[in-house]
Amino acid sequence: FMERIDSDRKKAAKSVMEFKFNKKRARVLTKSSEFPEWGKGVIYWMFRDQRIHDNWSLLYAQKLAIKNEVPLHVCFCRLPKFLEATIRHFDFIFKGLEEVEEDCKKLNIQFHFLIGCGKDILPDFVEKHKLGAVVIDFSPLRLPMSWANELSKSLPKDVPLVQVDSHNVVPCWHASDKKEYAARTIRSKINSKLDEFLTDFPPVIIHPFTSELKADPIDWDTAGKTLEVDRTVGPVESVIPGFKAGMKNLYSFISRRIKIYDEGRNDPTKDALSNVSPWLHFGQISPQRCALSAKKFASKYKKSCDAFCEELIVRRELSENFCYYNKNYDNIEGAESWARKTLEDHRSDKRQHVYTKQELEDAKTHDSLWNAAQRQMCREGKMHGFLRMYWAKKILEWTKSPEEALSISIYLNDKYSLDGRDPNGYVGCMWSICGTHDQGWREREIFGKIRYMNFEGCKRKFNVDNFILRHRK
Ligand code: FAD
Repeated sequence: FMERIDSDRKKAAKSVMEFKFNKKRARVLTKSSEFPEWGKGVIYWMFRDQRIHDNWSLLYAQKLAIKNEVPLHVCFCRLPKFLEATIRHFDFIFKGLEEVEEDCKKLNIQFHFLIGCGKDILPDFVEKHKLGAVVIDFSPLRLPMSWANELSKSLPKDVPLVQVDSHNVVPCWHASDKKEYAARTIRSKINSKLDEFLTDFPPVIIHPFTSELKADPIDWDTAGKTLEVDRTVGPVESVIPGFKAGMKNLYSFISRRIKIYDEGRNDPTKDALSNVSPWLHFGQISPQRCALSAKKFASKYKKSCDAFCEELIVRRELSENFCYYNKNYDNIEGAESWARKTLEDHRSDKRQHVYTKQELEDAKTHDSLWNAAQRQMCREGKMHGFLRMYWAKKILEWTKSPEEALSISIYLNDKYSLDGRDPNGYVGCMWSICGTHDQGWREREIFGKIRYMNFEGCKRKFNVDNFILRHRK
């Protein structure tokens, strides 16, 4: 599998210099866009796309460095904590970065593991080492958006800051220029651009210009110990971090599981899903590589291949669109007016069961399916996609207000899911609780016109007892 991927990369181009980079994937955030004559290197601040291979940001940075005949640097800026991320998340990040460090060594690229937030420390670092350009990843979430914005103002004069969307197949700003209403309104906009953007990646090459500035050696153990994070939520043994493990999982999906994806994906007792989301979330593998692999190696399972690409490209990039164009992507203000109204109309409806955040976190509800799903997320770092919808909708039914339901579902998802803190997570919770990207349904208690799901419906779809048995206390 990896050999065939390597050969595809070589077929795409022998080197980044032979490869025509599609400039629509990049945008300059500073006034200056030219590499200054005095520049002694290019630096790529890697934050969302934590991989070397199949990474447009790095490919862009290497092309720029080679064109200007200067060395190439990559940095990761480590914060002591990040929102509510736990040691489960940081362990995944750090182990993935160990591989990035090794790959950089092989490719004559300096990998700097810096302490602090890039927006604060990079301006001095760039000035001190006379780096002539900075390349960054794209994320539609408010914190990284604000970092990019601040950095564009604080870099030394004449140093361009270029942002590359390496997370989406069709760059988010190019897919659509407005907040889309639903999958049906963005689908053709994305699909009509796939010929242009769903192309193979060239390989990163051994960088031909060696830097005098050497990166400090990294002590990964100490780095892990100095984090100020919740250590009660530990790493998940069965989900191995890093590019290699991510590609291995992709291969096992493409070669074995994808054939039942279309018919089996809504059955949590079947092993039909790709499980790629943790690696995608941390950018350890590329969604574009997943789509290329599915199309190349599993096209004979057309229905499944199409269904997988619909989720991976259209639905995922719809989430990016929502967060990019809606600053209230994680609160009720961000819902459509029909949804806000119906939730308001049913605010005072009597709730038969009301649980606290702690009771929900401890999986102590009357519903054994819900408890099993909650336990699956806590233990395995991932809840089955179908149950995620049921799980969030029940939180709406069992808490005092839609605001509380949304905030608890985001809190639990971000704390326990390896793929949490993602546009998909915010949109998933908003879809379930606030009808985002959905339509109005028959009006009922508490939910109003928001789509309802119940235990009986789950029983019709899959063997609920079997799932509960697997995830018992
Ligand atoms: P597969 O079905 O194999 O799909 C492959 C990829 O397609 C996924 O990794 C994901 O990138 C994308 N995808 C699949 N389903 C969706 C969807 N409904 N919307 C957008 N993209 C999708 N996804 C996250 O990545 N992180 C989250 O924190 C997250 N939280 C969610 C919370 C709720 C309440 C809901 C309803 C959904 C959430 N999702 C989240 C979306 C979806 O459930 C997961 O992407 C999926 O379960 C991940 O498993 P997989 O990679 O095996 O999926």
